[in-house]
Amino acid sequence: MDRFQHYIDGAFEDGAGAFDSLDPATGAVWAKMPMASAADVDRAVAAADRAFRGWAGLTATARGKLLYRLADLVQEAAPRLAGLETRDTGKIIRETSAQIAYVADYYRYYAGLADKIEGAHLPIDKPDMEVWLRREPVGVVAAIVPWNSQLFLSAVKLGPALAAGCTVVLKASEDGPAPLLEFARLVDRAGFPPGVVNILTGGPEAGQALTSHLRVAHIAFTGGPETARHIVRASAENLARTSLELGGKSPFIVFDDADLESAANAQVAGIFAATGQSCVAGSRLLVQRSVKDAFIARLKAKAEAIRIGAPGDRATEVGPLCTARQRDRIARLVAEAQAAGARLVTGGTLPEGPGFYYPPTILDCSDAPEAPSVTQELFGPVLSVLAFDTEEEALALANATPYGLASGVFTRSLTRAHRMIRGIRAGVVWVNTYRAVSPIAPFGGHGLSGHGREGGLAAALDYTTVKTVWLRTSDDPIPDPFVMR
Ligand code: NAD
Repeated sequence: MDRFQHYIDGAFEDGAGAFDSLDPATGAVWAKMPMASAADVDRAVAAADRAFRGWAGLTATARGKLLYRLADLVQEAAPRLAGLETRDTGKIIRETSAQIAYVADYYRYYAGLADKIEGAHLPIDKPDMEVWLRREPVGVVAAIVPWNSQLFLSAVKLGPALAAGCTVVLKASEDGPAPLLEFARLVDRAGFPPGVVNILTGGPEAGQALTSHLRVAHIAFTGGPETARHIVRASAENLARTSLELGGKSPFIVFDDADLESAANAQVAGIFAATGQSCVAGSRLLVQRSVKDAFIARLKAKAEAIRIGAPGDRATEVGPLCTARQRDRIARLVAEAQAAGARLVTGGTLPEGPGFYYPPTILDCSDAPEAPSVTQELFGPVLSVLAFDTEEEALALANATPYGLASGVFTRSLTRAHRMIRGIRAGVVWVNTYRAVSPIAPFGGHGLSGHGREGGLAAALDYTTVKTVWLRTSDDPIPDPFVMR
C-alpha cells in the first residue's frame, strides 16, 4: 500500500496519527495518509515562523527564481501529480492533467510578480522629511484547501504568499491529500529553505490548531461557509487576516436570443465538469420561458450522452464523487427536491456497483423554486432549472441567493449584457462563456461566497502590510519641545 508523509521544516515525517485513503472509483483502501495533531501543527508553524525572517530578507528576484523552478518541476511531474489526484479524489484524468498546466502557470505568474511588488514615495508637505511606504510580507500564512483541485487551490495561495515573502503552513484536505503530499517533494527539490513551505494533512483538529495559532498572520481558506465560520471564530484568538473563497449557487442565465447550442455546451461543462464538485458550478439554470423546453431537451440529450466511467480512463467524461458521504448527501437532496415538487428530467438514480458514482442529473424546479437543490450548494452533478419571462425577473432570480461567486449570461444583445453585468451580485460574470480563469484575473466572491480575491496583483498585495517610514533630512538639532514652559 502507498504511504505518504508530512513535510515540516524541510523534512519528511509521519503524522501523530494515520488514516486510510479510499479510491473513489472502487471504494477500496489504496493508501495510508498521515494525520496531523495539534502538536504537529505547532511544530510546522514554529518552523515557518523561524524561516520567515530569512525568506522575507531574500531579494524578491531570488524568491521569484525559486518559484520558477517550482513551476518547472510541477510541469515535469505533471503525469504523476495528475495520476495521484485522479486516484485519490476520483477527478477524471483528463481534468487533472489539464489543470496541472494551470498550476504551473500560476506559479510562473507569481514568480514574475515577486520583484514587481512595489512600495511608494509620498510627496509629503514638509521640506525636511522623506516619507515612503515599504510593502512587507505579513508573516506566516495558514493555507487550508478542500478536496477538489487541491494542487490548483493551493497554487493560488502559495504563489502570491511566497512571492510576497511570507512563509506557509498548508493543510491539505483529509479527503484526497495525496497530490499535495507528493507536491511537497517538488518543494523540497526546488530548494526552498527549510520551513518556508510546510505541508500536512488532517481534519478539524489540525485546522482549528492552525487557524487559532498565535504566530499565524493570515488565513487563506477555500472550503464551505460552515467551516469558514469556525475559522473566523478561531481567528478571534490571533486576530489574523482572513481571505475566504467559499461555495456558490451560481446562476447560468440563458435568454431566448442566445446561441442555444453554445449555451448548452457551456452549461453542460459548467455543471457536470469535475462531477459538479466545483465552487463555480453553474448549478442554477435560469432560462427564458419561450426557449425553456427546447433548451432542456438539448441539455437532456447531452447529459445522457456523457460517458461515465473510471476516472483514470481517458475516455471518461464524468467520474465518481470524492467520498461516499458526498454522494449520499446529493442523493438525499435530490430526493427532497422531488418531494418539494421538482420534476426529474434525467439522472437521479444511484447506479449499482462499487465506487461513489452519481449520474448527471437535471431537475426542472419551475414549480418548486424553494426546493433544496435550488437554495443549497450540492457540490455535485445536479442542475436545477428555473424559468423567467423578463430581464428584471432573471436578475431577481439570479440575486435570490446569499451566495455571490460566479455567474453566466448568454445573450446576443450587447445592451442587455451590460445591464446584467451591472445588476448581478457576484465576483465573476462570464458573458457568452463560462469557467474561464487566468492567473492574471482576480477571482472571489461576496456574501456567503466569502471575501478577498485570488489571482492577479491584488492577491499578492493581500499578503503584505504597509510600513510607513519617516526620515528627517535636516542636520539642524531638534529643538527642546518644552522651551516655552
Ligand atoms: P470544508 O469546508 O468541509 O473543508 C475545507 C477544508 O477545511 C478541509 O481541509 C478541512 O479539513 C478543513 N476544516 C474542516 N474543519 C475545520 C476547522 N474547524 N478549522 C479549520 N479547517 C477546517 O469544504 P469541503 O467540503 O472539503 O469542500 C467543498 C466546499 O469548498 C464547497 O462549499 C465549495 O464550494 C468550496 N470551494 C470553494 C472554492 C472557491 O474558490 N470559492 C473552490 C473549491 C471549493
